[in-house]
Amino acid sequence: MNAPLQAFPDTAGAPRAFFASSPLECRYGGNSIDGIAVVIERKRVKNISLRVKRDGSAHLSIPARRATLAQGVAFLAAKWEWVKKARARIAAHAGAAEREASAEELARLAALLAELHTAWTTKLDERGVEWKLRRMKTRWGVCNWVKRRISYANMLALAPRECVEYVVVHELTHLRAHNHGPAFKALMDARLPAWRALRRRLKA
Ligand SMILES: [Zn+2]
Repeated sequence: MNAPLQAFPDTAGAPRAFFASSPLECRYGGNSIDGIAVVIERKRVKNISLRVKRDGSAHLSIPARRATLAQGVAFLAAKWEWVKKARARIAAHAGAAEREASAEELARLAALLAELHTAWTTKLDERGVEWKLRRMKTRWGVCNWVKRRISYANMLALAPRECVEYVVVHELTHLRAHNHGPAFKALMDARLPAWRALRRRLKA
């Protein structure tokens, strides 16, 4: 038997009592399984779902009325290995993000951005676009389309060239499409057909 099922033997104990006495939408955060914090929520959702947050905690959502706590726990048990892998991925990513780019890496990135900007602004016929490098933790790039100014994150210095190119095309595309709606996606598909795969690679 694997960890989640052991932690909730036939889903008895505190969670069951809690769920039985709670309103339709409720949250139970008192569990730790294998040293992993588990939050169980009952929500107005369609399907049972599970996600691992940045802090490494696992969040299980059980649809109100459509599934029982036992079904939710069985789902969690079936996905337990996935939870552990997702946590390992997050931990590895956090470690990489904490590393600062060296001066040499930043100089290389600046040269690459200069090259890509010239190539893409020419190709897309976008004039007067300024760019700079900046320390940003949560975003790869920011486009101020009013001032036609783009900031790129220093941490791009640690990304492969194709991914840097994706970010350049992404930010330049915001000059025409300000959000990430259908118009933005259509432009990206036309400009850089592989952009979805590159974005996945950048996030990995
Ligand atoms: Zn964007």
